[in-house]
Amino acid sequence: SLRAGDTVARLGGDEFALLLCDLGSTKECLKTVNRLLGVISSPYFINDKQVRVSASIGITIAPFPDPTPDTLLRHADQAMYQAKLAGKNRFHIFDAARDIEMRARHEVTERIFEALDRQEFRLYYQPKVDMHYGKVIGAEALIRWMHPERGLVLPNDFLPLVESNEFSIRIGEWVIREALKQISAWQKTGLTLPVSVNITARHLMEPDFAARLAELLSEQPDVAHSLLELEITESAALEDIASINAIIQECHQLGVTFALDDFGTGYSSLTYLRRLPAGTLKIDQSFVRDMLHDADDLTIVASVINLSHDFKRKVIAEGVESAAHGARLIGMGCHLGQGHGISPPMAAEDVPTWVTDYRPPQSWTAAMAPIRIH
Ligand code: C2E
Ligand code: MG
Ligand code: MG
Repeated sequence: SLRAGDTVARLGGDEFALLLCDLGSTKECLKTVNRLLGVISSPYFINDKQVRVSASIGITIAPFPDPTPDTLLRHADQAMYQAKLAGKNRFHIFDAARDIEMRARHEVTERIFEALDRQEFRLYYQPKVDMHYGKVIGAEALIRWMHPERGLVLPNDFLPLVESNEFSIRIGEWVIREALKQISAWQKTGLTLPVSVNITARHLMEPDFAARLAELLSEQPDVAHSLLELEITESAALEDIASINAIIQECHQLGVTFALDDFGTGYSSLTYLRRLPAGTLKIDQSFVRDMLHDADDLTIVASVINLSHDFKRKVIAEGVESAAHGARLIGMGCHLGQGHGISPPMAAEDVPTWVTDYRPPQSWTAAMAPIRIH
């Protein structure tokens, strides 16, 4: 089916390479490829039995910068896998832009792997307070990447790249271990502070999650298990509610508590809430931030507060950006808050002094007794 000047080679097994030279256009190449697919998939007769085979073809077209035989074959190979993924008896043309993107992504992921070994991750802590009583009730551990060239990198800029990767579990375990070490270190200086840690659904769903958690807890025997809370985003918790429920129960037996993070952004269905034994709801910061001037957001905040009371859960507002936010929340029956208006996340060594010096705004402690909004 090919011209005299073309080359056909068998690379091994069922893999072949064709080198089509002096093509006038991509169209000309595709004509040849379609003809080949037709010839290959037409029936054969072996001992009077009809058999059919099909092929998947990956194509790369030169010239492009640096077309060494190796790159040509690698590109064609990659395109062939795409063709296979799309179904049988097809061709796929190598996409250079996609290749560059995938390689860049791969490089960044590799760099994130290295960061753990190079000890470039840090935990920052953002205080959580009882706004009404002016008391610090705990802190949320938030990961930061101290990149030697890029400076401080925020979690949303690197965690999503490894989220679906097994490696995210290693980061997750590092975060738990580090937070427990920190609780222990603070405790030795006379500060007992509960800490919450964010956990991905992927990590929580690991078959031995509770057993591993027990091991990590036993590394810090002086830390009461009740000082650790795990935050899981509402949408992640909904993925496999039966399994998540079972894992939460197992962790409860260890004394570890749970909060549903970013609450309000998922389905927030009553049935789900009934089946998810998390003790705390964290109202998502997007609703809290705009509640003072957006009536819909205010209604959502009020509904989550009421829901938490009805279901006998604790409720905490994230994104408390000003004293006015706090005062309004207290008035609505939400005493617990976290946000830049209280304190941004800070390095562990700054926490003890912050806790000692913390004074809530007067408008909070003087706020009226909570009323319920219906
Ligand atoms: P999150 O768990 O909902 O954490 C709250 C985020 O809101 C933090 O962002 C915090 O710095 C930010 N924040 C707090 N108060 C305010 C405020 O008043 N205004 C505004 N605009 N933002 C506020 P951060 O540290 O960038 O973390 C982003 C997200 O990354 C977290 O959202 C969490 O989902 C995830 N994350 C952070 N650390 C970890 C970790 O160690 N493990 C995992 N799996 N996820 C983490
Ligand atoms: Mg959180
Ligand atoms: Mg949140």
